Amino acid sequence: MMLHELTLNELTARLAAGEVSSREAMQACLDRIDAVDGSINAFMSIDRDDALGQADAADERLTKGTTHAEQPLLGVPISLKDIFCVKDQPANCSSKILGNFRSPYDGTVVQKLREAGAVIFGRVNMDEFAMGSSTENSAFGPTGNPWDAERVPGGSSGGCAAAVSAQECFGSIGTDTGGSIRQPAALCGCVGIKPTYGRVSRYGVVAFASSLDQVGPMGKTVRDTATLLGAIAGHDPRDSTSVPADVPDYAAGLEGDIKGVKLGLPKEYLGEGIDPEVRAAFEAAVKQYQSLGAEIEEVSLPHAEYGVATYYILATAEASANLARFDGIRYCDRVEGDDPFALYCNTRGAGFGEEVKRRIILGTYVLSSGYYDAYYIRAQKVRTLIKRDFDRALEKVDALITPTVPYTAFKAGEKTGDPLQMYLSDIYTISCNLAGTCGISVPCGFTNDPKLPVGLQLLGKPFGEQELLKIAHAYEQSTPWHNERAAL
Ligand code: GLN
Repeated sequence: MMLHELTLNELTARLAAGEVSSREAMQACLDRIDAVDGSINAFMSIDRDDALGQADAADERLTKGTTHAEQPLLGVPISLKDIFCVKDQPANCSSKILGNFRSPYDGTVVQKLREAGAVIFGRVNMDEFAMGSSTENSAFGPTGNPWDAERVPGGSSGGCAAAVSAQECFGSIGTDTGGSIRQPAALCGCVGIKPTYGRVSRYGVVAFASSLDQVGPMGKTVRDTATLLGAIAGHDPRDSTSVPADVPDYAAGLEGDIKGVKLGLPKEYLGEGIDPEVRAAFEAAVKQYQSLGAEIEEVSLPHAEYGVATYYILATAEASANLARFDGIRYCDRVEGDDPFALYCNTRGAGFGEEVKRRIILGTYVLSSGYYDAYYIRAQKVRTLIKRDFDRALEKVDALITPTVPYTAFKAGEKTGDPLQMYLSDIYTISCNLAGTCGISVPCGFTNDPKLPVGLQLLGKPFGEQELLKIAHAYEQSTPWHNERAAL
């Protein structure tokens, strides 16, 4: 087996045993990127000297006897979505407007990864400011799906999912505002978890929609994501929405059977519009859970049908406010004008891409006087109804089970002309963000021709990541899907 083919946990076992060095693991990722990233374009920039320097420092700690019990990610190369602030490195959010921005500090997640011993290398591509479902809205060119480079990897964390599936890194950290971790994980055939709102600090993460944004890991296996989540979760006084709840040892809690676990199947989720092969893979996954001893119960999320509409009012409203800071005064590449207003217009007109502008205009509209009550306030009320649906359903069952996306990876360009069609990619993932709870996507099979991965989504109780990971792990270990890799 080649080094890049190992899972994160297989790599840490070998690093601990002294069988491989962190430098070798890092070099294996760089070689792999040189070999396959030309067609995938997951990576935007890599500071190779810095990466190998971090790996050497990790090797030194390993030689001196630091263990993975002390630093669970010691020596492991991890990539980051281009949305995280890493000291002295660019954080472009795949936008021209931040083209020359370099972060003056490490955000909390980055700091925690460093404390856990990770080798942080390479920024991966995304939809501009995390707005999109296909990574086609990147000012630096689209990313291809490792299973078929003509198809999209999903988005907005498409670079993370593609990099993990193409085995160019041992794990990646993304963000999920309406599905941006789970949807690309499903389309690329890897695992991605969106933790509960408040579980992971957002300090040093460029904000899109602050009441929905959450940071989370992607990996080849449930265990890999559990290890990563354990490293990045926890309270942070610098993010007032982060919650002071203990962080369990997620990786240690994965084993054990799931007999008697109750899974709720939302009846609203299997209506029209779902690809028959996706439905078949999902139904087989439900059967598999039954054979593992789980009980399946039908539940209802009566307001689920309003999820997408509600999200696109609230997320755009918050985005229009959050993105106001990119005005050419403090941040961004300034385009001069005769007066300050012209300077703003020129800077923002030249710097933002089409989808970002569309969202800013929509968001400004729903917040404007006269429309505020009709759209924004109303959407807030519907959000509460959606949250109550989740509360009620999750009182009866331990987790909800759904497909992650109604279809598999689509062809590049197929949905770019029709934003509404693109928005519907998130129909199964969005409500979880509105409800603020946690969700995971795990591989649950493939379509036949072409062979493309299908994702299964499990949605858990607030701060129920431990239980959710255990339920996902039991399924994963009883099926062959997580062992399949794209041929590149
Ligand atoms: N696809 C959704 C959007 O375009 C979700 C994005 C995300 O989760 N960041 O807004």
